[in-house]
Amino acid sequence: MNIKTILAAVVLFGIILLLFISTNYSTSITPEFDRSNNPMKITVYTYKNRDQLNKAHPGKKELNRRGWALWYEKDSSECEIHILQGKGLDDDITLSWGHELQHCIYGRFHQ
Ligand SMILES: [Zn+2]
Repeated sequence: MNIKTILAAVVLFGIILLLFISTNYSTSITPEFDRSNNPMKITVYTYKNRDQLNKAHPGKKELNRRGWALWYEKDSSECEIHILQGKGLDDDITLSWGHELQHCIYGRFHQ
């Protein structure tokens, strides 16, 4: 086996490993509560870009923020989602929509 063959095998192994990690890695969630199976009023506020989204956030500014949810401790029937406008089918923004929807249903589930 020459060095080019070994190098190609290492690169191929790295690509396969990255694909495996990226498709199978998911952080499990620990729900703060579970409001599934209950009717809820969810108001979705959309923003054209991250700058507008960040300006609307009442707290700490984070340049990489893709959205946030606001739920109420006492009133379990309402939730707000603030999110970038959808642009593509099943892209990162779509993933964020689902992430924020889970906050409405499960509350705080990550740091
Ligand atoms: Zn979150």
